Order: sequence, then structure tokens, then C-alpha cells
Amino acid sequence: MARIPDEVIERLKQEVSLERLAEARGVKLKRHGADLLGLCPFHDDHEPSLVISPKKNLWHCLGACNKGGDVIAWVMHAEGISFRHAVELLRQDHIPLAGHTGEPPKHSTVRRLPAPIDRDADDRALLLQVVSYYNETLKQSPDALKYLEARGLKSSEMMERFRLGFANRTLGYRLPASTRQAGAELRGRLQRLGLYRESGHEHFNGSLVIPIFDLNGDVMQMYGRKVTEGLRPGTPMHLYLPGPHRGVWNEEALIASKEIILCEALIDALTFWCAGYRHVTTSYGVNGFTAEIKAAFQKHGTQKVYIAYDRDQAGETAAQQHAEELMVLGIECFRVQFPKSMDANEYALKMHPAPKALGVMLNSAAWLGKGKRPAAPVIQAVVAPESPVEPPKIGSQEPATKETTAAKEKMNEPVLSLAAEAAEPATAEEAPPCASLPPTLATTVDVPTEIKGEEIVKIGRASCRERV
Ligand SMILES: [Zn+2]
Repeated sequence: MARIPDEVIERLKQEVSLERLAEARGVKLKRHGADLLGLCPFHDDHEPSLVISPKKNLWHCLGACNKGGDVIAWVMHAEGISFRHAVELLRQDHIPLAGHTGEPPKHSTVRRLPAPIDRDADDRALLLQVVSYYNETLKQSPDALKYLEARGLKSSEMMERFRLGFANRTLGYRLPASTRQAGAELRGRLQRLGLYRESGHEHFNGSLVIPIFDLNGDVMQMYGRKVTEGLRPGTPMHLYLPGPHRGVWNEEALIASKEIILCEALIDALTFWCAGYRHVTTSYGVNGFTAEIKAAFQKHGTQKVYIAYDRDQAGETAAQQHAEELMVLGIECFRVQFPKSMDANEYALKMHPAPKALGVMLNSAAWLGKGKRPAAPVIQAVVAPESPVEPPKIGSQEPATKETTAAKEKMNEPVLSLAAEAAEPATAEEAPPCASLPPTLATTVDVPTEIKGEEIVKIGRASCRERV
């Protein structure tokens, strides 16, 4: 999480008047030489033992509690909150500044930040509220945005479509204090949902958060990927909410297309999506091809699966296993053959332009069935018009409605142009992976493979690069 700059802290210490903070809390102050004296609000004070030095803007209790410090320490004690939260409140709320004139306010000026979490929300709504809060936080978190950019995933369309978010511990600042009943209650519920740990820490702190929705727009799971560098060795980089890996990410794509790219990780799936291949879903890690995903393939009549797992031993083994399971169901399987040891994201980052390079990989994918490789239609990146697929009604408090049904129907419109005829040779110029896709992105048919008998032999990366 970004550090609070020292100058911000210094400015608050100077500009926020301690005298006004104390008055706002109902402390009556009397001048005593250069100092102000009053009853200390932090212990049961009968003799005025609170001393405030307006000149230094510091306070100290000479009585039983013996507390003291600057304005931040005051807010921490007064509100029962952390240093960071106190700074956050002082920064974002309208604390009267030292030079401010006028009537001192009658009530506490330390207003709480608006709570993004509604106490009365049910669990379903609560999860959606957290997703929204993380989504807003991401947009204001340069570190997290930088991480996405470094992974070639700088797309506001993607961030909105999949409600990507960032957890930076500020969620807790927006809840009522844990010492209050409402705060304790909410924390308890968030803990039960797995968003808070028993220690009171935010589960996904420091992580890019990718929610997994069902077709009604309900949150089934959440995945977190740490973006902070220099973490303690052994810190898990990949997190989920406790419990099973529920949900099928981008299930709309299964409705829209009979052929699906199956990735090993969400970041890889987003890579394909950003490159214009929107008929993509993902397992939750190399061992995370769930029965639910498989059932969804069956339910939606998936005919072809392009397995785009990492090109390492674990990826190969899993791809082979899933292919066997799927082929039994009559689903044809192809293995996308990235260069050895590479994953989809790594490959897309190395190749320019990535959409075209990924297309080459898809079109040269090896058939995992027996016998001769069937002729598969050329896979093209979906043209990226304005929002081809309506996202589910996320944030809606309604259960499945006519609207969602309509959205599903809309998704049934062909959004993929699976041109069987040879595509025009691409003329796409160097383009950032996600930025602006050309209106029609023709994927080359000039695949960098040689077919020797039934074997598909990949040509080395160097020639790959040449050709794309
Ligand atoms: Zn005291």
C-alpha cells in the first residue's frame, strides 16, 4: 500500500488546530499562560489535567491517562482508530483549519468517511458493495494500475466489465469503529464471508482483486493477486476467499460461443480477453478445473476447447487430463502450444502485436484427440465494438430478472466471427495489447507450425516473431 507522504502528515500536524478538535469534542478550555487547560476526555477527569500548547499544536494529559501527542494522536484516541485511519480522516474530512474563524461547531468535526458498506445489506449485496468499493479503489491506486499495465492489461473496459478491484486496507476505515456494535457486527459478517481474517486483517490486502460472478451477477468467489513487491518470503501471491472455487468466470462467453479458450489463471484469461479473444474462461490454477466449469461446458453445449495452460510440466499434465475428461463428453480439445515454459500472459507481453501472436497460437493449437487433426475454423479475435456483450447486472439488488434474461439473449447473438474462409493477411501495426483494437483484426492463417504426419511441430520463437 502506498505510504502516506511525510509532508502530508506534517501539513496535518500544522494546519489542523488541536484547540478546535478539543472544543469540537466538548472540552472547555481555559487559558493558562501560553497553554490551554481543560478536562481530559480520555479519562474520568475532575481536575483539568489536559494541557494544550496552541503554539506547538501538541497536547498532554497530566492526569491518570497520561496520554498526549499531536492532532493525529488526538483523533486516534478520540475515535479509537489506527494512525492511518486518523490521517485518512483528517485528510479527507473537513477539519477546521487553524486559521478558520467563525463559530466552533457544536458537534464533532471528525466526520466519518461515507461508509461504502450498508449495514442492512444481505450477504449477496454486501459482497457486491465490497466489489464496488475495491473497484473504485483500483481506479485511484497508481501502484495497482501500474501492475496491470506491466501485465499488458491496461483496459478500462476490462476493469469495468469484470469489476476488477484493489484492496488496500481502506475498507476497514469506512466501517464503524470496531468498538461500536454496528462496527463489530459488520466486521463479523465480513469475516464470515472471508473478506476479513480472524486477526482482523483484510484478507486481500495489497492484492488486485478479480471477482467471479454467476450469470445473475452474484459474487461466487474472489481471487486476489498480490501486487506489492518486497513482501515477506512465503507470502502467498495468489489468494481466494475461503471455501470452494465456485463460479465460472466469464460464463457469458460459453453462451455466446461454442468454442472456448480455457486458461490456467485469471490473468491469462484477461490477456486473451484484452487481445480481443472474448470467448475465454479459466480454471483456478493448474489444479483448479472444477466440476462446475466442466458442467458449464456441457450445459452450454461447448464443442471445442482450446487449452491455454502454461507450457510447463504441470500445465502439460493437467491439459492432458482435462482433454481426456472433456473428449469423453464429445468436446474436442486442442492444446495451445506456447513456447516452452511460457504462459499466455508472458507470451503476449513478449510478442508484438499480441492479438495477432495469440491468434497464431490458437490456430496452430495441437489436437489432443486420436487420429488426424480435424480442420478447425480459423479463430479470430472478436471485433471489439462498444461492449459486444452486456455484462451481468452487477450491483443490482434484484434476483434474476427479465433484464438478465434479455441480456442473456443478447449474449446469444453471435459475437464471434469464426470465419471459415482464410482471413486477410493482417496489417495490424504495433499496438499495445489492450488499447485500441483495429475494427477488424484479421488473424493470420500463416501459422508458424509445420505439420509432420499427425504431429504438429512448432517452429522456434524467433521465426514466430518474424512471421507475426
Ligand atoms: Zn487523561
